[in-house]
Amino acid sequence: MTEAGGEQAEGQDVFRGSFTQQEPIPDEAILAAGEVLRSGRLHRYNVAPGEVGETARLEQEFAALTGARYCLAVASGGYAISCALRAAGVEAGAPVLTNAFTLAPVPGAIVAAGGRPVFVETGDDLTIDLADLEAKTSESGARHLVLSHMRGHIGDMDRLLASTEALGLVLIEDCAHTMGATWRGIPSGRHGRVGCFSTQTYKHINSGEGGLLISDDADTFARAVLLSGSYMLWDRHIAAPGADTFAPILGDVPNISGRMDNLRAAILTPQLKLLNERCAAWTERYRVVERELADVPGLHLFTRPPEEGFVGSSFQFSLPGAPPETLPDLVRACSARGVELKWFGAAEPHGYTSRYSHWAYAAPPELPATDRTLATLLDMRLPLTFTLEECALIGRIIRAEVQRAMASIG
Ligand SMILES: *Cc1c(COP(=O)(O)O)cnc(C)c1O
Repeated sequence: MTEAGGEQAEGQDVFRGSFTQQEPIPDEAILAAGEVLRSGRLHRYNVAPGEVGETARLEQEFAALTGARYCLAVASGGYAISCALRAAGVEAGAPVLTNAFTLAPVPGAIVAAGGRPVFVETGDDLTIDLADLEAKTSESGARHLVLSHMRGHIGDMDRLLASTEALGLVLIEDCAHTMGATWRGIPSGRHGRVGCFSTQTYKHINSGEGGLLISDDADTFARAVLLSGSYMLWDRHIAAPGADTFAPILGDVPNISGRMDNLRAAILTPQLKLLNERCAAWTERYRVVERELADVPGLHLFTRPPEEGFVGSSFQFSLPGAPPETLPDLVRACSARGVELKWFGAAEPHGYTSRYSHWAYAAPPELPATDRTLATLLDMRLPLTFTLEECALIGRIIRAEVQRAMASIG
């Protein structure tokens, strides 16, 4: 604190907030959770005569919100993806394509479904590289693609759909970071056979753990319901097809329990009506940080296409010209001023952050384009507990530290 002059002026700004602190659960959700607890009927199929359980109600409301015919609530986002893959016909040992820039639960879900992850290159806009998708499809013979909208970057869905159609791929969308987002006004999760969402604490609605799966495909969806562990009670689902879809497949589908319970559903349903407002608040924060980081030499911002109604719940930037060894120093310098950045180029996985080359069980291939992108990619959460002023402060701290880092490499 006693250091002289110039350094101090910028150097004294420190951010004191927590990057892992989400908003409290709304009172209405707490009341609804209390009612479920008092009833003792926590299991989704444990309903009083004539009662619609909280889980079935959540499914109905999420289907309405996204415009999907069917919705199934499950135990986690990862479970939703593996359940979708099995329901869509992935068999033991089958290759399943996914973009290499994603989070560990995605290849994990592919393996849980019995599949073998085949990673596809990520372009410099952080979305899947369509030329490599074509190459990897023909090399592997894969019939399924899990498209992970990692960190909310949706990519050109018109071109993507043209590719998956031409290649004959079944598309499963991982919308863990795009709940509430759109492409040309169509909700994320509505472009493929199945859309999968997570309601884990760090996603857009919060029940601690949980997942949602939406689809318009009656057969795939009925299989997902049976897979999730519906016993003989699949007729207690509301946002689901009728008995004629279930009847022919009842004996064909194993029970791989992964249901949601009424307590978590009760916590989630009241959050759905806050979703639009929350998404707007995230994107407002994103834009504030983005403004602070505009025109910093050496700092690359990701341009968001006008068709993309993204949700700015996290922020990414990169330093394409910087030698990778400067990145850990920058992360440390920001951290010393209270700003938590994650670096996707690290040799070892850390905290929640890992990348495809760390997932040795999946025998990752060489992906030079993805490596180039991830080598200088930095990432940060933007919880709604941050004010706009705090977001501006965070942006100024990053700007100052990036300027310092760039100056030191000359
Ligand atoms: C969080 C997340 C998931 C699913 O996570 P769960 O913890 O299983 O709910 C899937 N994909 C991505 C990209 C995620 O960040």
